[in-house]
Amino acid sequence: MAVEREKFYECEVKRRRVRATGGYEPFWKVKLLAEALIDSDTEFRCKDCSGAVKLFRRHVENAPPPHIEHKLKSDSEYCSSGIHFLKATDGRLPRMSQSPVR
Ligand SMILES: [Zn+2]
Repeated sequence: MAVEREKFYECEVKRRRVRATGGYEPFWKVKLLAEALIDSDTEFRCKDCSGAVKLFRRHVENAPPPHIEHKLKSDSEYCSSGIHFLKATDGRLPRMSQSPVR
């Protein structure tokens, strides 16, 4: 049986917008990873726990489309969409990453 892996197709990307008082301010925007790659976004994080993510940008036929996984297992264990969290049977509650990407 294949090992279950995390596969998220949505992420948050860091964008900049014009601040009302002038200058720019960064903000995080939820986006499909496939679109983010086309737009050449460079900063990513998990949309549910703000944790660091690993990028898998594959262009191989029959391979899964580009996706992300949590970089830290501890994030996956407490992120509301983490595979380790979803598999946990101890009734734990989700929480934000201990080392969020800002
Ligand atoms: Zn997460």
